[in-house]
Amino acid sequence: MKKIEMIDLSAHYCGIKQKIDRAVLDVIQSGKYINGKQVEDFSINLAKYTAAKHIIPCANGTDALKLALLALNLKEGDEVIIPDFTFIAAAEMIALLRLTPVVVDVDPHTFNIDVNKIAGAITGKTRAIIPVHLFGQCCDMAPIMEIAHEKNLYIIEDNAQSIGAVYTFPDGRKQQAGTMGDIGTFSFFPTKNLGCYGDGGALATNNESLSQKLKMLTMHGQAKKYEHRIIGCNSRLDNIQAAILNVKLPHLDADIASRQLAAKTYSRQLAGKTTQIETPAIQSYSGHVFNQYTIKINSEKRDSLRKHLLENNIPTMIYYPTSVHSQEAFRKITKLGSDLSESEKLCRSVLSLPMHPNLSGEQINYIVEKLLEKL
Ligand SMILES: *Cc1c(COP(=O)(O)O)cnc(C)c1O
Repeated sequence: MKKIEMIDLSAHYCGIKQKIDRAVLDVIQSGKYINGKQVEDFSINLAKYTAAKHIIPCANGTDALKLALLALNLKEGDEVIIPDFTFIAAAEMIALLRLTPVVVDVDPHTFNIDVNKIAGAITGKTRAIIPVHLFGQCCDMAPIMEIAHEKNLYIIEDNAQSIGAVYTFPDGRKQQAGTMGDIGTFSFFPTKNLGCYGDGGALATNNESLSQKLKMLTMHGQAKKYEHRIIGCNSRLDNIQAAILNVKLPHLDADIASRQLAAKTYSRQLAGKTTQIETPAIQSYSGHVFNQYTIKINSEKRDSLRKHLLENNIPTMIYYPTSVHSQEAFRKITKLGSDLSESEKLCRSVLSLPMHPNLSGEQINYIVEKLLEKL
């Protein structure tokens, strides 16, 4: 059996090696490495895939969040609501721009922001909500959009982890993660579901004027060369990464299907075998693209289980061991928008198992066998 990786990027590369090698070599041989046709093609391809009106490529998913916040003209001290249980990027960019991150508790079953706790966190200073579609599943966007509409708040979807996930509105309308809010942000960090071979990111919006502003912000605030209308930054997806993404995007749906199959196999094999772990819950309103397959286990057992798995050459990860408001850099500056008990509990109980499109049935059987051995 092949060595089990948390995510096996070289196995994935092997499956598309010829096309990738050709695409990368073409860029190198062209002598043009920045602002090339590959980048333009990618923004068209991703717009087609997501059905977003505008896609603006940028350097990475963290920059995408920064650019989105910059585009909204927020003032120092304005408040932005985020989930407490997530990757730090959103809180970090909010704080870097001298805005106030307001953390709200999450739903213990979806790991996503608890929509019932958002209203209580809104004050006269609240300007935006950043729902993070965590691990591959959409936040419950209909009620979030309703609150945002009622309170006149912007929505920036942090869609670094859930590209390709489809949300179903109560009226049956379907929309892709990252295209429902005012702006959606994407990351193409190698371990994301659509990953390049370096750093990459993008923004999605259906708003024409926001799209123009975002584009300018990525290019030193220029509308034309050397005409700087606003203060921007330099945040580009380069031609090599765009060429790689153009090769990989047509494979994304098949990759997602492989992840879903792996998740189904895990969940089926674990069902009814133990009461000590909880497998991921799939919601009726959202598809799940399984960037992570995250189980919950009693905190006293988690360390020994991880150790046992590692001794059997099975890597696991804890996404995330510490909540936003408990991080040293954020403790003093973060405003608590609700009680945060579920977020705290998740930090002690989550465990992500190996998950990627090249995970074999044999590998999953082995992982489950070793897992159950210890419970
Ligand atoms: C990966 C990630 C980011 C940041 O993306 P980078 O491309 O690494 O900057 C932001 N938010 C979430 C939820 C992520 O998982």
